[in-house]
Amino acid sequence: MRLAVLGATGSVGRQALDVAGKIGADVLALGARSASDALLRAAWTWRPRLVAVSEVPDRAFRDGLPPGSRLVSGAEGMLEAALVPGADTVLVAVTGTHGLRPTLAALGAGRRVALANKETLVAAGELVMAAAQPGSVLPVDSEHAALFHLLGGRGLEPGQKIWITASGGALRDWPEADLERARPQDVLRHPTWRMGAKITVDSATLMNKGLEVIEAHHLFRAPYDAIGVVIHPESVVHGMVEGADGSLRAELGPTDMALPIARALLWPKEAGPVAGALDLASLGQLTFRPVDEGRHPSLRLAYAVGRMGGIFPAVMSAANEEAVHFFLDGRIAYTTIHRLTEAAVERAGTLATGRGGPDLDAILGADVWARRHVRSAVEEGRCR
Ligand code: MG
Repeated sequence: MRLAVLGATGSVGRQALDVAGKIGADVLALGARSASDALLRAAWTWRPRLVAVSEVPDRAFRDGLPPGSRLVSGAEGMLEAALVPGADTVLVAVTGTHGLRPTLAALGAGRRVALANKETLVAAGELVMAAAQPGSVLPVDSEHAALFHLLGGRGLEPGQKIWITASGGALRDWPEADLERARPQDVLRHPTWRMGAKITVDSATLMNKGLEVIEAHHLFRAPYDAIGVVIHPESVVHGMVEGADGSLRAELGPTDMALPIARALLWPKEAGPVAGALDLASLGQLTFRPVDEGRHPSLRLAYAVGRMGGIFPAVMSAANEEAVHFFLDGRIAYTTIHRLTEAAVERAGTLATGRGGPDLDAILGADVWARRHVRSAVEEGRCR
């Protein structure tokens, strides 16, 4: 197996390189947003043909690369890495909409894409699935990896329903009245998964689940009415498929991203031992409860936005990402993340959109607009 790994220094990217070592894959290209020592170390370990950096790197980084690794930079460099000659699979783990063009380019060139960047499907699910051959988009998101395996790589059948589990995040047991006062350090204490900061905040607001609902809609051609979310604090059951006959098939697994990464890379072959096994007897019990929608308005917003389609999912995702960064910087309250996101979606209703689905430029334009809208709301003090 020959890989290009985009977003190589982030949480999923680092774990993917670990997995690549365990499954004996070769890495032909490495991509990251910025030049860093971690990227240099990865380059020396893997000796890729290409090292792509979005931001133009300094001289020291350039000079520090191993011989035989060519440096490319900017958005074009990331595209070049996605299309590196000889690779069969591209792991896309960059953040936000940066994954969009590389994903479309790799699919267009007939490569398989192991997709860890959910924003790509949220913002441009129609375009991505239209560019994909059957089975060429392999979800790395743990819930979708479970569902993909439960469904055997096929779409949802009429009468079936998908269930996505949510841990509920770090504020799960906080009284609703206290949420206003939650600080970044409170939210970043995730009970079950170790992930990047942005997604950890999204797990608390349930925006992460909202994005995953839209992701599942595209991946499995599932109507929104056939996608449910249930709170499952232990994060052991990752996904379930309910049959028309009332049967429920669940997939359980350890909370270790190495497993969905390895399965995405190796599909349809079984992954070998890459993660620890699950010990149900020592776990003792698994619990489930319904989502309290009043507490998690983000989830309701995501369903509404998913049904609206067009540029709205891109607007919601970008506005939320921007708002989360303001929260992490201590500039806005936790509950303001949702207020800002919802306000951006409402305002986006006034943006002119043509008939039919938006093209890539319209989606990227909506992303930029939404970020600017949130930034000016915060900077002008218009947010509550
Ligand atoms: Mg997930």
